[in-house]
Amino acid sequence: MKVKNVLPYMPLVWVCACLWGGWTGCSRSALERDNWQIQRKVTETDPLKIVTTTGMIADAARRVGGRWVSVKALMGPGIDPHLYKAREGDVLLLADADLILFNGLHLEGKMTDILKQLTDYTPTVPVAEAIPETLLISPPEYEGNYDPHIWFDVRLWMMVVQTIREVLIELDSLHAREYRRNAEEYLQRLEVLHQYVLQRSREVPPSIRVLITAHDAFNYFSRAYGFEVKGLQGISTAAEAGISDVRELAEFIVQRGIPAVFVETSVPPRYIEALQEAVRARGFEVRIGGSLFSDALGSPGTPQGTYLGMVRHNIDTIVSALLSRPLSVSSLWEKR
Ligand SMILES: [Zn+2]
Repeated sequence: MKVKNVLPYMPLVWVCACLWGGWTGCSRSALERDNWQIQRKVTETDPLKIVTTTGMIADAARRVGGRWVSVKALMGPGIDPHLYKAREGDVLLLADADLILFNGLHLEGKMTDILKQLTDYTPTVPVAEAIPETLLISPPEYEGNYDPHIWFDVRLWMMVVQTIREVLIELDSLHAREYRRNAEEYLQRLEVLHQYVLQRSREVPPSIRVLITAHDAFNYFSRAYGFEVKGLQGISTAAEAGISDVRELAEFIVQRGIPAVFVETSVPPRYIEALQEAVRARGFEVRIGGSLFSDALGSPGTPQGTYLGMVRHNIDTIVSALLSRPLSVSSLWEKR
């Protein structure tokens, strides 16, 4: 691994260590320090090399960085970040990066060690960990840790975009004005998106405004947009769904008459299919309402290959499935 001169990055390394380790006495305002400027002139032919873990972070970095950055995401479409392990090529990319952006809050559970090691050599920023703790959700089953799926609340994702803007300005102050302008434009589009998700959510009657998916990725979505959410697997896909989980959820669906459940692009559909079977065994029919992009973007070049398109796809899929008529009318359905 190429070992870089650590000294120019020390303040950033310090910031990361603060965000990561929760050192006492560290302040998040340390992100505003200005002495970790990159030691070369960033140009269009020699842009800042940024490596991110998820596609969502890569998308944000491209929007804010514009022509002054070259961004690579390690985790492509359909990749599950909870289970992802760094490959040999990833290590080379990471070692060559000017800046590494990852989600943090234990999303990249299997990459923790390598990311920690890189913190010693390269600015390595857990972007979600700059969100104030009061805004993070700490579900009881996660035993004191925060839920990492913050991108499902567009307003929280806007904070991530602001963090990326500040990091880029610190590293490359020469182009600060452009980073600010790009961020401003993108933040405006995100605010429009947030309002769109709010407005679409309200189309679904509260009694069936329930989102059932394979794993608990949607807690922030639930809080921001007024959905009740239920996941089969818990917060990380590393935990298996048990038979009793399937049974319990099947009962819930039948009792509430929930018309649709959803699969996720980064989680195998077998759990949701098992759930659908269990519901059918109770004389009710729940449809698979579509595929949601939960922990990874869609393919590049498709609308879902961007954060804006992913969020829009998800809310449109959820709302149209929940408002659709049931596939078959069972006696239970008629009792509603
Ligand atoms: Zn997840």
